Amino acid sequence: MKLFFTLARKYPWQTILTLTAILFSGISEGFGISALLPILNTIFNQNTQASGADGRAPEWSTRLDQIVQQALSVVGIQPTMAVLLGLFIGCIVLKCILVYLANKQIGFTVVLIATDMRLTLLKCLFGSSWEYFIRQPIGHLTNGVATEAHRASTAFNFGAKLASMAIEASIYSALAFVISWKATVMSLGAGVFILVVLRRLVKKNRRAGAKQTEHTQSLIAQMTDILTSIKPLKAMARERQSDAVLTDTTRRLNRALQKQVLSKAALGSLQEPILTVFLVLLLYVALVYWNQSLTAMIAMVFFIGKILKQIEKIQKEYVNLAEYESAYWSLVEKIDKAREAREVLAGDRHPSFNRAIRMDSVSFSYDTREVLKDVSLEIPAGSFVTLIGPSGSGKTTVADLLIGLLRPQKGDIWLDGVPLVQIDIRRWRAMIGYVPQENLLMHDTILKNITLGDEAIGEIEVEKALRAAGAWDFVQDTARGIHTIVGERGSVLSGGQRQRIAIARALVTHPHLLILDEATTALDPKTEGEICATLASLKGGITILAISHQSALLENADLAYRVQGGTVQLAKGSSRMPASCGVIA
Ligand code: ADP
Repeated sequence: MKLFFTLARKYPWQTILTLTAILFSGISEGFGISALLPILNTIFNQNTQASGADGRAPEWSTRLDQIVQQALSVVGIQPTMAVLLGLFIGCIVLKCILVYLANKQIGFTVVLIATDMRLTLLKCLFGSSWEYFIRQPIGHLTNGVATEAHRASTAFNFGAKLASMAIEASIYSALAFVISWKATVMSLGAGVFILVVLRRLVKKNRRAGAKQTEHTQSLIAQMTDILTSIKPLKAMARERQSDAVLTDTTRRLNRALQKQVLSKAALGSLQEPILTVFLVLLLYVALVYWNQSLTAMIAMVFFIGKILKQIEKIQKEYVNLAEYESAYWSLVEKIDKAREAREVLAGDRHPSFNRAIRMDSVSFSYDTREVLKDVSLEIPAGSFVTLIGPSGSGKTTVADLLIGLLRPQKGDIWLDGVPLVQIDIRRWRAMIGYVPQENLLMHDTILKNITLGDEAIGEIEVEKALRAAGAWDFVQDTARGIHTIVGERGSVLSGGQRQRIAIARALVTHPHLLILDEATTALDPKTEGEICATLASLKGGITILAISHQSALLENADLAYRVQGGTVQLAKGSSRMPASCGVIA
């Protein structure tokens, strides 16, 4: 129930509205039945003369009568049989309307919780630091947004239903109390007995639910990893090993689901006989020892039966709640961790890039591993600069530091003489066009791949960007032009075409700095030469930082830096900055 109370605190109005509607629906039903019972009692008295020795209505019936009559006298209505029957129908109709409103409110709240959790997770993830983000298994995150958010919000449904049943059970108990307090106390005792006896099943289901959450998360994470690298797996006929891993996790998930089915089935089968035995015992005691009238017995069976049924349902909903709870806490953990790893964006100065971006004695380590030591370099605005060096030497790290995705542990980065930490980093990033080595296009149109959903970018802008990237000719040759769908990760295009689309995507926002991270490494010399020519044509109008060890790019560059052994040395051209000469410890 901790989960339900947590959600109730987060969504107080929705919970209050729901519970109020349920409370009044219960009162309405209780009032309607109270109006009906004295009538039934009168009919029984007339037909069987079985009410009491002197033929008067039993005490409980008189009490209910009084409650109904007092309520009617307040509004000045005479309690005739027609009025009482009308009242009964009216109360039941009102109850149904209130139940409809309560169910609607519960449904809307469930949807709202799922939406809020999804959006919060996405917001926290996108707002988290780059170092945190790249360490997250994508499958865990997609599972959080899809499965866990759904299960977490459904838990509110179970909690709200449980609360509503508890309210209804309380109202039935109050009415049953008027008829026979002894029977009511006994039945509530029986309810508590069932809850205690069958507690183990609830625990089992909670554990199985937690396992379900864990295995679903693993399965989706593994699936995502395997599907994104399926080609080499198939090419090397090694998909069987992956298949075995997935099968194993799926089987574990299957076992967890089976355990849930077992505990729920056992609960259903055990509850009913226990309740039936109790009800029969109660009837026997009431008839033989308490000497109850037939009407009182019918009323008692009705109310006690309802109370016990509610207790049965309460336990079932509680089992469901226990099963779904783990998804909520798992998702909350993801959100909290992402929130803790929030990227600190303290700077508020407007970026300008008219002179240069400069690294000054910068050192950077991933955890304890130092990658750059006392590195200094300068990229003058409007120049074409390349970073060369062996794989793993720290070239991408330099680019990530310039973008502000990473922060140096030592030294400073200056943009036109202003420390990068003082700059509004999102505005600075909006001035950058970035083309990664792994060109992951979306399964969408060329247009969407370039605008990335930004509706402010029109088709004319897209055409200009495609022309600047040297991609317009082949795009025009496709069947639907910019509306051609590029397939899964751009698979219907060649490597060079994909790279040009990525360059167009980077150029469409008119960036001040274009960063290409090994963007031409995978291309054949001819295509690479063409892209180099494209980049050369952009020279002057835009600053280009190309990470590459390809000679074609090096030839076109005004400046080249060699990144090696944690240091950066000037390899081509001249800079006002001294080349650094740190050494990795
Ligand atoms: P390059 O771009 O020159 O190939 P990188 O800048 O990508 O090199 O990486 C430099 C070194 O830092 C590599 O040895 C790499 O393993 C390590 N590295 C890169 N990213 C991370 C990370 N997120 N966590 C830990 N180590 C990293």
